[in-house]
Amino acid sequence: MKKILLASVAALSVGAAWADYPDKPVTIVVPFAAGGPTDKVARDLAEALRKPLNATIVIENVGGAGGTLGATKVSKAAPDGYTLLLHHIGLSTSPALYRNLQYKTLDDFEYLGLINEVPMTLIARPNLPAANYADLVKWMAANKGKINLANAGLGSASHLCGLLYMSTVKVDMTTVPYKGTGPAMTDLIGGQVDLMCDQTTNTTTQIDGGKVKAYAVSTTKRLGGSLAKLPTLDESGLKGFNVTIWHGMYAPKGTPKAVLEKINTALKTALKDAEFHKREEALGAVVVTDGRVNPAEHKKFVADEIAKWSPIIKAAGQYAD
Ligand code: ASP
Repeated sequence: MKKILLASVAALSVGAAWADYPDKPVTIVVPFAAGGPTDKVARDLAEALRKPLNATIVIENVGGAGGTLGATKVSKAAPDGYTLLLHHIGLSTSPALYRNLQYKTLDDFEYLGLINEVPMTLIARPNLPAANYADLVKWMAANKGKINLANAGLGSASHLCGLLYMSTVKVDMTTVPYKGTGPAMTDLIGGQVDLMCDQTTNTTTQIDGGKVKAYAVSTTKRLGGSLAKLPTLDESGLKGFNVTIWHGMYAPKGTPKAVLEKINTALKTALKDAEFHKREEALGAVVVTDGRVNPAEHKKFVADEIAKWSPIIKAAGQYAD
């Protein structure tokens, strides 16, 4: 009896110790450079999350190695709810790509919920002499061995889309890795690289403003809004081509349950925020409102993604030490 009483007093005081959370700023680590699509989602979400979480939110960009540097940092951070990670599909592709990965995707994080799903677009430098997708195919055939394709490093969304694209069209390109597709976009606009496949959250404004050329979208269905004019790669002859990028939120393993519950509740509220929906929809992204905002379903979804992507990556013979 005494033991039971002591145990429940101990449980109560652990809960009580976190009752004040958050009482200082919460950092969200973005594992890519500022100005890119993951950064954009994080900054828009931070706006919506600030009030329900009742905290100041700081975004820290830790770009490099396809997002694995930022993810490693969070996996080793204090599990106190003050350092969180906002990452994308790369969290599920890194186990197959990196031989010396410093974290275990399914074991070293607490899952907080999925945030959004984002299609991708195949875009090019503004002076690339191809007016549409059919012209691009001809241009690629005439320029074999000379084409550069920008990406955000091995395992990034742009890398995966590019990898799938190159293997489907059977054209080898020289990949040029950046710390994020924010800086890659600057070089594409400047004509230093030829092509890139990137999330609509980074490309819509540049396409609409005529800063880059756009040839196709990565989903099997055409998009709405200003990108409705773009054909899908599937309808352009690459039957079945379909890539959608998702983003989710994570905390270091061992973060107290009381803290995780507070963050998850705040995340659910933020994902209903009308302004957040408006911003995401304007850029072609779809906010997740289904069960995957729950930790268990989010984790299962990522486990399924690991199972889906690992054989594709292994078959492509891609890896990094
Ligand atoms: N869109 C990038 C990628 O290719 C990441 C980023 O810069 O947000 O994964």
